[in-house]
Amino acid sequence: MIIRNGVVVLASGPARLDIRTRGEILVELAADLMPEQGEEVIDATGLLVLPGFIDSHVHFREPGGTHKEDFLSGTRAALAGGVTTVLDMPNTSPTTDSRAHLAEKIALIAPKAVVDYGLYLGATDTNIEEAASLVDEVAAMKLYMGSSTGSLLVTEFSPIYRHFSTFPLDKPIVVHAEDEQSLKYFGALGSQDHNQSRPPVSAQIALSRALAIAEKTGRALHIAHTTTQRELELIQEARQKGVRVTCEVTPLHLFLSEEDQHRLGNFGKVNPPLRSKSDQAALWRYFDVIDTIGTDHAPHTREEKNQPYEKAPSGMPGVQTMLPLLLTAASEGKVALEEIVKRCVVNPARIFGLETKGALEVGKDADIVLVDPQQTYTLTDEQMLSKCGWTPFAGTKIQGKIQQVYVRGDISYRHNACVNSPGSGRLLCYTKSSPYR
Ligand SMILES: [Zn+2]
Repeated sequence: MIIRNGVVVLASGPARLDIRTRGEILVELAADLMPEQGEEVIDATGLLVLPGFIDSHVHFREPGGTHKEDFLSGTRAALAGGVTTVLDMPNTSPTTDSRAHLAEKIALIAPKAVVDYGLYLGATDTNIEEAASLVDEVAAMKLYMGSSTGSLLVTEFSPIYRHFSTFPLDKPIVVHAEDEQSLKYFGALGSQDHNQSRPPVSAQIALSRALAIAEKTGRALHIAHTTTQRELELIQEARQKGVRVTCEVTPLHLFLSEEDQHRLGNFGKVNPPLRSKSDQAALWRYFDVIDTIGTDHAPHTREEKNQPYEKAPSGMPGVQTMLPLLLTAASEGKVALEEIVKRCVVNPARIFGLETKGALEVGKDADIVLVDPQQTYTLTDEQMLSKCGWTPFAGTKIQGKIQQVYVRGDISYRHNACVNSPGSGRLLCYTKSSPYR
């Protein structure tokens, strides 16, 4: 197949190039490619040609929460959002914290996935050796220093230190950095304002602790959902000292603030919370420090969100809206397209060791998204393919519309519909001896 006449967004910037794919692989990238006999030609005149996005932070709720998402609905929402690879979090029920639970999860989700996927292993107080033995079969480890959705939590020094020093050092441990003791303290004060009951200082304390232990152990550390200027300053400083730390922001925190939380009520409740306008602005100002944009796609039903503040779960969906929101920001001159591609494709592939992914480059998987940059539309709840059926961005005007998505060379989304079959998504991290492929 040839994709002709489009503007290809490389990590170095947009370029007028044609793309040739053969089977699942991108095999040529050059100006004015001539079709071979019988070769399919896609005319991308006027379109942007982007690499498929990698969302390194999703919660697709399987097993245990399939009333609000399963791996089919979640990966379909991803596909519709131009995301062709997802890394799924372990705070399911049961939690993905052992070889047996990992195998159970893969058996459930493999027949459903319509995009490629890797899985996180959850850290517990006791699974230190078993977790390390699974390093090649997962994308990374996830360690919750503060309570969020689900039961995964590691707060004591000993298990944190042992995980940091035992899990192979080059594979990142992704940390949810909110300090449990301070969350308990502030939570008990009874504020209904989420940014007051989980204030920035809780993130700062946990982050400082994680950075110190990463420095001591020399391990790769990835900080999930940074939300404040202070965190980015600490990360920048640690990096200058040689600490192997990378970090993520979510579109939620880039595009929403605590004012939106007040407007959205529990539907805007997320951990860590939406922050002040000035912290939101700092995420854009410190964009250089940020390595990845991950959505923290965390669907909950309307019924769950409509409970009283204390009972309503935290999290918002986002896998389908990330690329549209970032395209819109690019059209407004807020960020360059190649800076988006670095944070949503190049860097996540590098950090999580996804060797077949990472850019529109010869030899990589032909994960391709065609976008009409001229088309505008408004986001609605009805467009959302997530089972939860709502988005905090309903009503937002979008510049740029996803036309087609290819997963490993296969047309998977077009005319606003997912057209590939459940089970066509592939597990990305496995060992030769592992039974899953
Ligand atoms: Zn999360």
